[in-house]
Amino acid sequence: MITIGEQVTRDLTETTQVCVIGSGAGGGAIAAELAEGGVEVVILEEGGYYTSKDFSSDARGAIPQLYRDAGTSVIMGTPAIIFSEGRCVGGSTVINGGMCWRTPERVLHRWQREFGLADMTPEKLAPFFAKVEERINVAPQSPESLGKGDMLFKQAADKLGWLINHNRRNQKNCTGEGLCVFGCPTDRKQSVLVTYIPRALGKGAKLYADTRAIKVKTENGRATEVVAEVLDRKTGKKRHTLRVKAKVVVLAGGALQTPCLLIGSGLAKKSGQVGKNFLCHPNVKVVGVFEDEVRYWAGVHQGHQIHEFLEEGILMAIGGVPPALVALGLPMHGRQSLETMELYNHMLVAGALVDDTTTGKIWRAPWGQPMAFYQLDQVEIERLIRASALICEVLFTAGAKKCYLPFTYLQEIASMDEIPKIYEAGIKPSEMEVLTVHALGTTRMGRDPRRSVVNGFCECHEVKNLFITDAGAIPTSLGVNPQETIMAIAIRAGQYLLENRARYLV
Ligand SMILES: Cc1cc2nc3c(=O)[nH]c(=O)nc-3n(C[C@H](O)[C@H](O)[C@H](O)COP(=O)(O)OP(=O)(O)OC[C@H]3O[C@@H](n4cnc5c(N)ncnc54)[C@H](O)[C@@H]3O)c2cc1C
Ligand code: SF4
Repeated sequence: MITIGEQVTRDLTETTQVCVIGSGAGGGAIAAELAEGGVEVVILEEGGYYTSKDFSSDARGAIPQLYRDAGTSVIMGTPAIIFSEGRCVGGSTVINGGMCWRTPERVLHRWQREFGLADMTPEKLAPFFAKVEERINVAPQSPESLGKGDMLFKQAADKLGWLINHNRRNQKNCTGEGLCVFGCPTDRKQSVLVTYIPRALGKGAKLYADTRAIKVKTENGRATEVVAEVLDRKTGKKRHTLRVKAKVVVLAGGALQTPCLLIGSGLAKKSGQVGKNFLCHPNVKVVGVFEDEVRYWAGVHQGHQIHEFLEEGILMAIGGVPPALVALGLPMHGRQSLETMELYNHMLVAGALVDDTTTGKIWRAPWGQPMAFYQLDQVEIERLIRASALICEVLFTAGAKKCYLPFTYLQEIASMDEIPKIYEAGIKPSEMEVLTVHALGTTRMGRDPRRSVVNGFCECHEVKNLFITDAGAIPTSLGVNPQETIMAIAIRAGQYLLENRARYLV
């Protein structure tokens, strides 16, 4: 039931009940929910269809295949923030780390208070989280899959008396290959590619890969048709046009692409909120170097997360960063870089994400692609500096001899005693290396059509029969990894459609 670009030899028109744009966390989950409820679904995915047979541990092959813009997307601001997202069947879930957390209660309370989302209580959402967890096999990592790096990290956090939690990941018998960000070679990571997509297809859904939706058409205020371009995978050029006539259209292209599509279609303009309220959980990373070999790539990354500082908006974990990407982030070049990378087996890379306290925006460039701007505010800058210092504390406690820092003019420190330098260096935003893999909030959910784009069931306030079930619907920073939240709100929207079938789908 998957049609790839090169199999399409002429312009096509499909007629279906629901057209879902994007096959990642939000798109895959709602597509399966609806197809299993007996609804006809057509899924459009701009990226290619790849399976574990195609995945490669070589960054040069894997990244252009699975990542948008070959992983080189940038969010403008000072500093510019490096941003990565998936562009393939299964979306970012194919390349993500598999961490799965329910939306924290304090976040849901905020949604109720600030966005009038009265039904978004932990109790009422619990069945949706439970269903997602069952579908994508969320479970703690088995001890055998954890490596020495994770053990060192855990022991150090325990020694410091910090709360460190066993991670919950969507995996089945994960063997700890540590290649999650290049696509799991053994299908043990239960991404949307191997869970929700086969479920949807098994119930008759159709999926067009290499197919980019470029316009959503409406009639009398209702979404009626999607116009898409079937692309040549090698050149990215249009080969044919696909039109999908549908009773309901679901946008799930992610928090950058969906507002861009809405703007390009001239939809949902009244609220003035499309593309605003962009959140991104800014991240920093620190590389610890140890006397003995750590071989932190041997074993699953993020077997644990430090949750001691969640209330301060800081979450810490070790990261599965492959050598090519570690080398890119080191504050050196040439021979020095080569010599340092020879110590790769002695390294442990740890990172922190911080809660957003400001927002950025997305707009549509004249060439039809989204542009993003996000300026860190003072609170976030201080959090990122504190997070870097805390990571150094845990790495030195674990036995590191040196830590490479994400700052231009303070590139390394060699002991715990030097940590105060991080606070005293007067680090400016332009001197920080910041990255993110969590874009959220650009078509946010809420009760008030003047402050939000979609309602609590993800239906667009201004366009009936148009739903948005991706990361853009999340109204606030989460402070934890977002995929489970996205999937839960997506299947909740799916259930709402099934319960109101007569109104939407007949
Ligand atoms: C490297 C990395 C590690 C991460 N680690 C974790 C983690 O451990 N835990 C966690 O919870 N989250 C993690 N995340 C984040 C998480 O994967 C995303 O937040 C989540 O997948 C977003 O879901 P989504 O549905 O909004 O978009 P995506 O899952 O990104 O899916 C969107 C899909 O829509 C397609 N698309 C976009 N526009 C169009 C269009 N116009 N037409 C057709 N198709 C289109 C895209 O190609 C893409 O495949 C990580 C992300 C990355 C990149
Ligand atoms: S650690 Fe390896 S086996 Fe486990 S999910 Fe990641 S890539 Fe797959």
